[in-house]
Amino acid sequence: GLSAEAYRRRHEITVIGANVPIPYITFESTGFPSEILREINQAGFSAPTPIQAQSWPIALQNRDIVAVAKTGSGKTLGYLIPGFIHLKRLSKDARMGPTVLVLSPTRELATQIHEEATKFGKSSRILCACLYGGAPKGPQLRDIDRGVHVVVATPGRLNDILEMKRLNLDQVSYLVLDEADRMLDMGFEPQIRKIVKEIPPTRQTLMYTATWPKEVRKIASDLLVKPVQVNIGSIDE
Ligand code: ADP
Ligand code: MG
Repeated sequence: GLSAEAYRRRHEITVIGANVPIPYITFESTGFPSEILREINQAGFSAPTPIQAQSWPIALQNRDIVAVAKTGSGKTLGYLIPGFIHLKRLSKDARMGPTVLVLSPTRELATQIHEEATKFGKSSRILCACLYGGAPKGPQLRDIDRGVHVVVATPGRLNDILEMKRLNLDQVSYLVLDEADRMLDMGFEPQIRKIVKEIPPTRQTLMYTATWPKEVRKIASDLLVKPVQVNIGSIDE
């Protein structure tokens, strides 16, 4: 088979960190639970994308990750599937709360992530809610009250709901900052920092960004602990 080094070279993957595990070149090598492999199979995917192949084994070691990869590279399942496995490893009581939180810059992106989470989490009975502004809070609060494992949210609406004390983040142990560069461009940094203060510091944190300017490097160094960095292709600073 293809060696890890050859696979990384071929797909322009560079990794920075100690003892970075070798990529999962095939779905069979992931060891994912059968219900998740079945969903992947039904989606018709033939192989993990490079960001998935390299970030899955790192995320499954409970390590923080900062991934720099362009749009369309399959980042969503890159963080969702390890999040689902993280959930499955927790006790039943610890799972609700929610445990997995994904922050996303826009309503549109949050909706797409929520759809992917609902689809791939369905057979694992994973409950998801999606919180975004510009829509009534009622249905979102009802989704929270039903009990949720995974929350996908834009920072503004999440803070509104936190201020209303209708949700607490005490049980969150897997935090994803998706499109971090865009969230910072949109001025969400104070909102993100406020949200993160509500989450126990023992969490695992994953940050995804298309670009790697100094503002993003700064928030990564503040919020992540010894992250492994995974870059796909060349990096725009
Ligand atoms: P990104 O967040 O990097 O922009 P997405 O996670 O939105 O990318 O994925 C882009 C598209 O690729 C989605 O339609 C998704 O379902 C699909 N996709 C994800 N993983 C794979 C895969 N391993 N093989 C083929 N398509 C995939
Ligand atoms: Mg994305």
